[in-house]
Order: sequence, then C-alpha cells, then structure tokens
Amino acid sequence: MRIASAILCSIAALACAAASACTPPEPGSTPMTAKPTKPTPARSQSGYDVTPLSREKVKELASKLDPEAYRVTQNAGTEPAFCGNLLDNKKQGTYACVVCGLPLFSSEHKFNSGTGWPSFYAPVDPAHVSEKSDTSHGMVRDEINCARCGAHLGHVFDDGPRPTGLRYCLNSASLRFYDKGALPADALTKDPTGLARGEAAATTADSKKDAPMPETTMTAYFAGGCFWGVEHWFSVCPGVKDAVSGYMGGKTDSPTYRQVCEHGTGHAEVVKVVFDPSKVSFKQLLQGFFMIHDPTQLNRQGPDVGDQYRSAVFCTSAEQAKATRDYIAELTAAKAFGNKPIVTQVVEGTTTFWPAEDYHQDYVDRTGRACHGSNPWPAVFGTAAKPAAAGH
Ligand SMILES: [Zn+2]
Repeated sequence: MRIASAILCSIAALACAAASACTPPEPGSTPMTAKPTKPTPARSQSGYDVTPLSREKVKELASKLDPEAYRVTQNAGTEPAFCGNLLDNKKQGTYACVVCGLPLFSSEHKFNSGTGWPSFYAPVDPAHVSEKSDTSHGMVRDEINCARCGAHLGHVFDDGPRPTGLRYCLNSASLRFYDKGALPADALTKDPTGLARGEAAATTADSKKDAPMPETTMTAYFAGGCFWGVEHWFSVCPGVKDAVSGYMGGKTDSPTYRQVCEHGTGHAEVVKVVFDPSKVSFKQLLQGFFMIHDPTQLNRQGPDVGDQYRSAVFCTSAEQAKATRDYIAELTAAKAFGNKPIVTQVVEGTTTFWPAEDYHQDYVDRTGRACHGSNPWPAVFGTAAKPAAAGH
C-alpha cells in the first residue's frame, strides 16, 4: 500500500507540476512578506471576528499543530497531490482553518478539479480568505491565506467552474473538516452576533469524534449503464469505502438526471468508487466492473439505451489508464466476450464528477430493486487473476 501510494504521489506531483496547478514541492520555507491586497473587516458578513491575530497568538496556536500542518500553514508548504485526506471527502460540512478554526470553505462549493488537491469555487465568506501575490517558483500566482491568522492555505486560479470561474486549490493539511452542525463553538470561532449560528451549536466532543483520520484511499470512476446497480455492487465490495452515483464526461456543469436522460449533455452515468488499495486493488475493481455489465454493448446496457449508459472508465492517473487498457487486452485475448469487441472507453484527463441527486444514491439498497446481475466479488477475490464473462 505504501509503495503504491508513493508511486501515485510522484506521478501526480509530476502531472501537477507540468500543469502548474498548485505549488510544486518546496525546497525550503519561503515566508511571504507582501501585504494583503484587500482590506480586512474586523467582523465578517457571516458574523465571525476576523481581526488579525497577534504574532504571539499565532505562534501559540501553531505550536499545537502536527508537523505537516505546521509546514504547510506556517512555511507555505504544499502537500503531494492526491495525498491529502480531504480530497475525496464528500460529506456535508465546513472546512475550517486548522490553526485558528475560522470557517473557510463549505462542502457546497467543493468540486473535483482533477488536480489532486481539494478544490472549491468560492470561500464560505470572502472576508475569511485573503489573497496576495506569490512570485515563488518562477510563477506569478495568487496565494490564499486565512484572513485571521495568516495561515498559508494554497492558491487561487481563474480556471474554476461556474458561477465564479475560480478554483481555490487547497492543502488538506491547512484545513480541519467539521460535519454539518458540528462546527465547535470555541472561543476563537465564537459568533457573538448570532449571524453564523447555523453550524455553531454542536459540541466539541462530536466534532472530535467525527474528525477525519488520515488514511490512504484512492478513487476510480466506472460507467457501466444505469448507475443504481453499478453503485450497489461497488458499495458491497470489500475495501470500498464509498460508492457514489453521478455524472461525468459531458458538456454542462451540474447536470440533472432529466438533462442527462434527454441525451443533450453527453454525460455518462458514473459511479465514483473510493477504495483502500491495501484491501482491494484497482485491477480487482476492474475485474468486478467487467463482470457486472456487458462492455460489448455500445451506448446501451440491455433495455437502457442512450449514451449516458455507455461503458467507460474515467481514469484518475496514467497508471489506472494503463491497467484498464491492459485488462481489456487480457479479456480480448481470452475471448471473454466471444468475438465481440469491447467498446469500453478509457478516458484520461480532467473531467468533473457531478454527484447525482440524493434520490439516486443507495437506490438498490433503499428500494430492493436489483439490476446488473449478481455479486461479482466472490469470484474476483477467489480467482483474482482469471477474467470472467459478463452477465447483465
Ligand atoms: Zn486561521
């Protein structure tokens, strides 16, 4: 697991440097001296005290940080791409400054940028995040900082999605996530005006219990017809932490099920699979995927006809793309589907995953309606190397 994730990190870091997305790894600390470009009000619109903290107070708070959070927030460090623990977090809630607790970003504005860093198209309150020009590493970029304690957070770019067109590129280590309703009402985040009361009432005990633990997970995206059944089978796969139905590969942002079904947007029904690579490999996920759908059917699965039912793997790395092509070649050579060619698309490059409406999630579990054949995992884990034929 360590080796696999280390490889992924280096590949991702290379890809990132090429695209000049986030900051490349730091050679050393580069303290910023430029002044914030916009004035900071003492109290933000959402009711938080954003008076800049004294140097002594920041020092005291920073002394409690773990080494990685300290390196990122105090020395403008950057974590390796795809390695932060909040990249794939899709829970509803608030991302607060790891140093001073000021709420900075919301799950409402989070999107999958494909860069390997948690990305948001807006801060939770514009007064909570300050910007300044950063000319390190031979680039001119806008560094973003916590407006209250000055913690380095990441950078903001103008290639984000609508409605802002901005991409706030964050280090997970600079953030602490609180589930919706679990933002602690500690002294520093206290909201005397009551304006931001929505999330301020929960107990610290709860937030501690729910605080994310660092862990190594990877993400894969599979399109194999109606996402209800695909999601169901991936959700019961050992080592899969989360399976989410959604849309990918189309032309429009935030597509609805109705738009996708009218075939105007070009999206495929996709299942996002978050998995622990120490328990299930990407290859094993591929094996299950090719068992629960028929990859020889073009733009349909059985009675479901249309390009949203196309067979595709949206790869998050060059490694995944190679593994997918290799496995398709293996299945083809073994005539797993007779002489019919496998038409599965292997998609590389950035494409945003749009989670589907709530009523599509866990559909098979909630309704008992089954599709997509039978449980592939006993065969995958029992005879892992042997390709098996599909059945719909
Ligand atoms: Zn802060």
